[in-house]
Order: sequence, then structure tokens, then C-alpha cells
Amino acid sequence: MRILVTGGAGFLGSHLAEHFLGQGHEVIVLDNFITGAIENIKGLLSHPDFTFKKQDVTDYIEVPGRLDAVFHFASPASPVDYAQYPIQTLKAGALGTHKTLGLAKDKKAAYVLASTSEVYGDPLVSPQPESYWGNVNPIGPRGVYDEAKRFAEAMAMAYHRTHRVKVHIARIFNTYGPRMRKNDGRAVPNFITQALANKPITVYGRGRQTRSLCFVTDLVRGLDSLLHSPISSPVNIGNPDEHTILEIAQRIKKLTGSKSRIVFDPLPVDDPRVRCPDIRLAKRALRWKPLIPLEVGLKRTIDYFRG
Ligand code: NAD
Ligand code: UDP
Repeated sequence: MRILVTGGAGFLGSHLAEHFLGQGHEVIVLDNFITGAIENIKGLLSHPDFTFKKQDVTDYIEVPGRLDAVFHFASPASPVDYAQYPIQTLKAGALGTHKTLGLAKDKKAAYVLASTSEVYGDPLVSPQPESYWGNVNPIGPRGVYDEAKRFAEAMAMAYHRTHRVKVHIARIFNTYGPRMRKNDGRAVPNFITQALANKPITVYGRGRQTRSLCFVTDLVRGLDSLLHSPISSPVNIGNPDEHTILEIAQRIKKLTGSKSRIVFDPLPVDDPRVRCPDIRLAKRALRWKPLIPLEVGLKRTIDYFRG
């Protein structure tokens, strides 16, 4: 296959690119480095089946030759990043999705959208099944991301229904692993960086809010299965192993052998109180489930941050 990955110089995109190259496919990455870095793909640049082009996906996209699949992963993804780049985030989800869907239609390629658990907002139902419509504040600080992704899902379904594009919508839950940026502001890189430096570990609120963390290799396997499935409606991909943020901070402190104190900082506005995927659909339709326990994934991520 010849596969395009937008946002391929970012955390998830670079793992996807590496995965498909490893399977013998050809991979083209587009990225404008707004939150990604060339270092994430430096090991791929000399690969004969790998092409990189610096491009903003909100501009017209031209890719010569055939394409079998388009993975649209370009978007700032951490709350700190999308607060810093609100308009670019809206544009990546809206204009970027439109442009990449147009490309997939033109090339008769399958399309995989990186959607998110954030479409559920601060959920009133837990765990969250795909049938839940969500509880999103459109005008709060997270609205730029949540609404862009909700628009992206609507656009993908419209291209599917109107133009018969073979779309797949992955509702990705919090994923972590090597190549996350140290300073991207998300809980796992923050806690690991703070713990390794014996600096205070900043838990927001009282740390009672929950998240369910999926290791990146599990996510990539799920996305690969999704591409090969006939399913076009959204599918949750995540690990239902739910913990409070305080538990995750304590776990990281222990695994790093850190002397850090845990401190409590103000809870960001609209921070979801719970988040846990209902993955019955993925288990049934993709024959997929996560395999890497939190402890194992955290150790691998800590090793990466140590390096
Ligand atoms: P990331 O910031 O590491 O990667 C995003 C990449 O997209 C970066 O390399 C960035 O430079 C690029 N990009 C952003 N806007 C662009 C534009 N207009 N043109 C070209 N490139 C652009 O973030 P990530 O965690 O790897 O997230 C990747 C995708 O997965 C995002 O769409 C995100 O919304 C989605 N997602 C991630 C998670 C997670 O837990 N990591 C959860 C849900 C959804
Ligand atoms: N969080 C925290 N301390 C930090 C960074 C994040 O307590 O230094 C909390 C944040 O408030 C949220 C959770 O950890 O409740 C997960 O945050 P992250 O930014 O990783 O992703 P989110 O799930 O909010 O998109």
C-alpha cells in the first residue's frame, strides 16, 4: 500500500509511519512542525519507501501518484498546545479534514480520521460508548479542539455518505509512550519529567479526575485493524484501565524512584471529571484489545525520557 500520514512528525503519526514501513508499505508524511519535530522521524528519513514533505494540511494538498490510505493525524493534541494555537487547531480539524477527505476521494483511498474521546466532553455517562453524544462546552478553552473534531467526524461521514469514501473514525482515548514531547503539558510527560528531575509533581485539582491510558503500540495495532475493517461509524480505541490522576502521579513517582513531592495546582477549566472507553465495539468488530499493562508502558516511557 501507499499510505499518507498527516501529522506524521508528531507522537502518534511517527509511530504509525514506522509501523507501516515495517510492514513493507510506502509511507508519505506531511507535517508543518507546529507541535511535531523532525527528530521523531529522523530514523525513517533514509528509508527507501519513506517520503517527507513540509506542508500545512489546511492548504491545498497535492500528492503525486496513487494513494491507498490517508491517515489524518495533523492537529495540536495536548490541552496546552491547543490553548496556545486555538485557530490552527480549529483549522486542522476543519479545513485540514476537508482537504484530506478531498484527496482521499480523488485517489479512491481509504480514510482514517484521528478523532478523540474529547468529542464526549465532560461525559455524563461512564464508560463512554460510541452511541453517547457527549457533553461539550463549545466556547470554553477546550472547545477549539472538541468542536473541530466533532466537525471533522461530521465531514468524514458526509464524504462517506455523499461520495462513498471508505472512512474510518477512531475515537482515540489518552495515549502515551516514547516520543511524547517533554513539555507538551500532558499529564504523563509532565509527571515523568518532574519526577526524574526530583521537582514537584503538579497534580491539578485534587487529582480525583480519572483517565484511562493506552500504550502507543496498542493504539497503532487498533488503527491498523480499523483500516482493514468494513466499519465507518466511530470506534473507541483506548484502554479501559481507569485510574485517578493522583494514582497515576503516585505510580510514576514510585517507578522513577523519585524524591519529588506531589503538589496540587488549580484544575483547568472544563477538565473532564471521568474518561473511560467502552471498547466492546472494537473487541467485536476489530478483534482488538489493548495488551500492554500500565506499569509496562510507563516503564518504557520513563526509559525514553531518561534517554
Ligand atoms: P502531536 O502534537 O505529537 O502530533 C500532531 C502533529 O500534527 C505534529 O507533528 C504537528 O506538527 C502536526 N500538525 C498540526 N497541525 C498541522 C497542520 N495544519 N499541517 C501539518 N501538520 C500539522 O500529537 P499526537 O498526540 O501525536 O496526536 C496526533 C493526532 O491524534 C491528533 O489529531 C490528535 O487530535 C489525535 N489524538 C491523540 C490522542 C493522544 O492521546 N495522543 C488522543 C486523541 C486523539
Ligand atoms: N494533569 C495534571 N497535572 C499535569 C498535567 C495534567 O494533573 O501536570 C491532569 C489534567 O488536569 C487532566 C489529566 O491530568 O485531568 C490528563 O491531562 P492531559 O493533559 O494529559 O490530557 P486530557 O485528558 O485532559 O486531554
